[in-house]
Parts: sequence; C-alpha cells; structure tokens
Amino acid sequence: MPEHILLRHRDIPEIADLDVYLKHDGFTAFEDVVKNQTPEQVIETVKTANLRGRGGAGFPAGVKWSFLTPGVFPRYVVANADESEPGTFKDREIMEGNPYQFLEGIAICSYAAQANTAYIYCRGEFWDLAHELEGKIEALTKRGLLGEGLFDTDYSLMIYVYLGAGAYICGEETALLSSMEGEIGHPRLRPPFPAAEGLFAKPTVINNVETLTNLPPIINQGADWYCSIGTEKSTGPKIFSLSGHVERPGNYELPFGTTFRELIFEHGGGIRDGKAIKGILPAGASAPLLPATDEVLDTPMDYESVPKVGSQLGSASIIVLDETVDIAWMAYKTTSFFKHESCGKCAPCREGTYWMYHILNRFQNGNAAPADIDLLNRVALGIQGKCFCALGEFSITPVVAGIEHFRSDFEALTGDGK
Ligand code: SF4
Repeated sequence: MPEHILLRHRDIPEIADLDVYLKHDGFTAFEDVVKNQTPEQVIETVKTANLRGRGGAGFPAGVKWSFLTPGVFPRYVVANADESEPGTFKDREIMEGNPYQFLEGIAICSYAAQANTAYIYCRGEFWDLAHELEGKIEALTKRGLLGEGLFDTDYSLMIYVYLGAGAYICGEETALLSSMEGEIGHPRLRPPFPAAEGLFAKPTVINNVETLTNLPPIINQGADWYCSIGTEKSTGPKIFSLSGHVERPGNYELPFGTTFRELIFEHGGGIRDGKAIKGILPAGASAPLLPATDEVLDTPMDYESVPKVGSQLGSASIIVLDETVDIAWMAYKTTSFFKHESCGKCAPCREGTYWMYHILNRFQNGNAAPADIDLLNRVALGIQGKCFCALGEFSITPVVAGIEHFRSDFEALTGDGK
C-alpha cells in the first residue's frame, strides 16, 4: 500500500489538529451519509466492504449492526477503547495520532445505527488520552460537526468519554456494559446480545477503535476499493502490533494476508542480535503459541489462514520469541496475567488459573516433578469449554500449546519434585 489508511498521521504529521484533518477530507464521509444516504444504505456499504471487527473476533461489522432490534429506541454506540491485550498498542496510536478519523468513524456508525448518543469506553490507564479526546469532541461540537441538527438535517449526535478502572475483562463487551452501568465488570449471559439489550437495556452497537477508524475511507472511496486490499475474506488494511525480540518493534499497517515472515523479517528488521526465532504469539496472550517453522512463517496473517496452522489472529499483536526464551517461563508469565485478570465470576477460570499458576511456579523455583507437566496439562484441559466467557478459554492456550510444541523446556526444569 502506498500510504497509510488508518495511521495517516505518519503521512500527514499534524492530522490530530482539526483544521488539518478537515483539509484532508475530514468529515466529508459523515456529511455525505447524513445528507445523502439512509442508515440502511450505510449498513449495506459496510457489509459489502466486509469490514471485520478488529478487536479480536473478526465478526463483520455491518452484519452486527443489522442485528439491532427494529423499532426500539434510544440506541447507543460504544467504541471499545479498552485496549488491554498484552502486546496490543494499535488503538492507542490511532487515538493519539489520528483521533478525528476515529471520531468520524463513531459518527458514521452512530448514524447507521440511528443512535444519537455514543460513548468511548477508554481503559483506565488511558486517562490522559481520555481527556484529550474530550477536548477533540468539544472542538467538533463548536464547529457544528457534533450536536443538534447536523448539516441542516434533524440528525443529532453527542459523544461522551467513559473511563474504565483498568480491568482487562472490561474489554469483553458485556463486561464493558456492566462497568458503564456502574456494576462490577462481570460478563453477562448471552443472549440477549447487546444489539437487542445492551447499554441501559437498549439496542447497542459495540465496535473496536480500529474497526471504526476504517469507516471514513470506506464511505469516501467505496466498498470495491476496500475489497481490493487484503484477501478475499479478510478485506482492508490491518495494523499489526509487533513486539518481542525484533529489531524494529512497533505498529505496522499492512494488508491482511501479509505473511509472518514479511512482517518480522522485512518490516521488523529480523530477530534482535542475530539470534534465531523460536516461537510466535500471534494474538498476545490469548491464542496458542506457534513454533516458528517455515510453514508458520509463510502463513498469511488473516482470519482464515492463522487457524489452519493452529492459532488465531485475534487483535494481531504479534509477540516474537527468540531462541533464548524458556517456554515454561513464558507460560508462567501469561498465566500470572490471566490469574490476576480473571474476574472471579466462574469457578473453572477463577480456580483453574490459580492452580495453573501455582504448578507453573514450581517449575520456576525448582520444585517441579516430571509428573507436573501432565498435571498442568490436565488442569488446563479441565478449564477448556467450561468457562463463562472467552478469557478463561484464552488463559490455557499458551500453556497447552507450550507443552505440545516445547515439552523439553518444561522437562528441563523438573527434578525429583522435592
Ligand atoms: Fe470471569 Fe474468567 Fe469466568 Fe470470564 S471465564 S466470567 S473472566 S471468571
């Protein structure tokens, strides 16, 4: 791709300034849909573009919007800015560097959903960014780009920022809604899905920051243009957050379908200090670890191809592990994270992450017996398929895949178990 579609601040340095954003086609897409299109037409365009949710699940955004219960109002839009997956730092860069494109995306989504109120749910650690976004919203309101009777129509929209308290689980959309309603951030039973009964029990659309930031270019340049980027089923650009043992970590905006090898060795500059690559965590801590075989390295990064080699793309936080990484240590660190972030609502996750952590701790302090490897695997598989939400399912993936592909790393840390 010749230029950035999402990280446009890298091509237009002052685009976080409203005047500069407006000079570069800012809010033309929102004005176009409000003045010239019906909400149904906007949904149809987004469906044709096959914009898939960038928060991790990859569910088509237009299809999600079309599930809103007909005739029930008010409706709400919530931008999920609770970016907490280890190794994911793309939404933060969008909100800091190109905030108006994100805000315009919220506005387009709100119009399509026939919502007059939208919220941005920011993770608690983003408190400084949240206040900056409030300033941007105020600037838009003063210019008449948010507020009552927009573009001389009867459409009105206000956007508010809501600050979470720094809990990973609140990135799960129903826990996020509970948090916004002043409850503990626990996931809710589905159905009802948020499109039927979401915020304040009203139909609600929840989309990730990167997903929403795709909307202005889709409206301006059309669904066919968008579909010409990426692969047939994973369309458009994707921001890959690359971290770990690479020479040049950072966010890379590339078409879906770029291989792991190209990202790591061409864009990321290869493995630090000339070491060999050992493994890849393709979706932060939330998907199975992949051994860095030629087959894996040549796999296109899209929602269809990564599952074929045994993992998931998720939010595309690619953590690279070099040959010095002990996989038992890696599993200990990810499990420690999930044990801490488990919300405690259901026993398999609450107790399971606790016991996995304690067994893995034995490997770290020299007290593990050979039988502890199978015990650990058994505890992990005991969690599988029994959790109330996806966090519990995520928690076992680095452990189970770690034992499957790198059992010798665990064996090397076992003694007589005394
Ligand atoms: Fe909470 Fe974990 Fe159960 Fe999800 S799986 S509801 S995070 S305890």
